[in-house]
Amino acid sequence: MGDVYAVVNQKGGVGKTTTSINLAACAALDGKRVLLVDLDAQGNATSGAGVDRSALTASMFDVMTASDPGESAELLHHIIAPTNVVGLDVAPATIDLAGSDLSLANSIAREMRLSRALAEVREEYDITLIDTGPSLGILTINALAAADWVIVPIQCEYYALEGLSQLLQVIDLVRSQLNPDLRLAGAILTMFDARTRLSFEVAEEVRANFPGRVYDRLIPRNVRLAEAPSYGQPVVVYDPTCAGAQAYQQVYEEMFADESARTGARPVGVDIVNEDAESGDIAGRGGSD
Ligand code: ADP
Ligand code: MG
Repeated sequence: MGDVYAVVNQKGGVGKTTTSINLAACAALDGKRVLLVDLDAQGNATSGAGVDRSALTASMFDVMTASDPGESAELLHHIIAPTNVVGLDVAPATIDLAGSDLSLANSIAREMRLSRALAEVREEYDITLIDTGPSLGILTINALAAADWVIVPIQCEYYALEGLSQLLQVIDLVRSQLNPDLRLAGAILTMFDARTRLSFEVAEEVRANFPGRVYDRLIPRNVRLAEAPSYGQPVVVYDPTCAGAQAYQQVYEEMFADESARTGARPVGVDIVNEDAESGDIAGRGGSD
């Protein structure tokens, strides 16, 4: 209980926000108390969950840049807003967050800001999901430092694996320097298009590189998933029977059916990175799990 999941991939447009919102909503519909932390200046998780960014007087920017940890935690409590989905709360982000890199540049323990702010709040929730932006900068490091698990959405497109070895190295670094308990929950294949051979090829390649760590259920390309945010609703609420909603529901079930099996599991990211440290890219790593 109280587990924190960071949804990370430094590429933009791969489905991080869609995944964060919908897994969070699935958990809430399942009766869990869920906190969705928006750690991307674009604030798409905030608006997608139906929270009006223009009405906010404080946001994750204030939490991340507060002068001391006690104040951060207090501010986090203060900014958390309920959504129309019972059980789902959001810690919202606005565009100010884009300036937090600068504000944090010379501050002490800047990588641990979120972790400290969440220390108490996380215990009020069964699950906390952190949506991150398209970079491996200080905000994403904060998300990794605060998390127990990493979820990596991977778009079934050309260059899907590009950048993943760098991401795994950063996870490894955070684990060794900041957060020894961090583990890879798994990769979620997104925007899968069954009409294209490419989608199948990418799915196969990702599975070869993350043996046993890719959720079986693929998220299809589905227009309802793209529409839902403009109604400020998770797709599992907007259109619960559409293919995209059902796919997220199934990934959610896999994720939590898997939870007990994962307890005590070895940290897979480390193995993938270290197994073949000589090789320059992720292709060719793994395969011995
Ligand atoms: P990220 O947060 O990684 O930048 P998003 O979740 O915002 O990615 O997704 C990028 C865009 O693709 C958004 O417009 C989103 O609505 C759309 N999208 C995401 N997943 C799907 C999908 N499975 N099918 C169709 N559109 C999708
Ligand atoms: Mg996003």
